[in-house]
Amino acid sequence: MIIDSHVHLYVDDFAADLDEVIARAQAAGVQRFVIPGVDKASFEPMMNVVRRYPGICFPCVGLHPTDVRHDWQSEMEFVENQLKKKEFCAIGETGLDLYHSKDFVTGQCLAFERQMRLSVQYDLPLIIHIREAFDLLFNVLDNVKGLPLRGVFHAFSGTVEIFERIRQYGHFKIGVGGVVTFKNAALAQVVKNSDLSDIILETDAPWLAPVPFRGQRNESSYLSYIVTKTAELKGCTTEEVEDATTRNAMQLFNIE
Ligand SMILES: [Zn+2]
Repeated sequence: MIIDSHVHLYVDDFAADLDEVIARAQAAGVQRFVIPGVDKASFEPMMNVVRRYPGICFPCVGLHPTDVRHDWQSEMEFVENQLKKKEFCAIGETGLDLYHSKDFVTGQCLAFERQMRLSVQYDLPLIIHIREAFDLLFNVLDNVKGLPLRGVFHAFSGTVEIFERIRQYGHFKIGVGGVVTFKNAALAQVVKNSDLSDIILETDAPWLAPVPFRGQRNESSYLSYIVTKTAELKGCTTEEVEDATTRNAMQLFNIE
């Protein structure tokens, strides 16, 4: 069994053929789907997918850094109210993104720090998205140093050195997806130099499709390409990759 630890099944790209997408994933051995939340507007569509596939799809709630705008405080209120229902397997995705916009950097930092504190309060892992913001990440992490943080750095774009620095702040995994199959991907070096116990697998579908589908719509069944590439980089079997990463994801998100 494989777990897709990050897939946006509720976006319009999947509206027409979601049953087929799930069926193809299951045929490829993908049996569980962790679905990150990004904002209030996409929350109901996400929960509709979760209700349609109970016990298979697991929801998260969070405010994505690229969705931090003037109204980020009311968005955070929504996240906090949802968390009280205790039906989520993680807080996220959250994080920092200076690639898409630098307009709300302060809001991004405050919302991220708030979500880290909530993860401790609710004893939930974090799904963290960092893009072109590692310096800023360490500034924010310094504010919460000492808190028992855990989670995943999804679509990790840093180096081995950055990950070593990150793990001084908590128990974090590396989210490995389609980028690992790209030519000259830094992520391939990170995977090569990391232990399988540090890795969980993800697609981030419909985005970031692996080679040979790069640029097309991604879907969870393509996780097999990421398994194969990871096994090649680690010099182990695909079964070993599946076993280890599934165990890691089940443990992190507390799913069966
Ligand atoms: Zn995502």
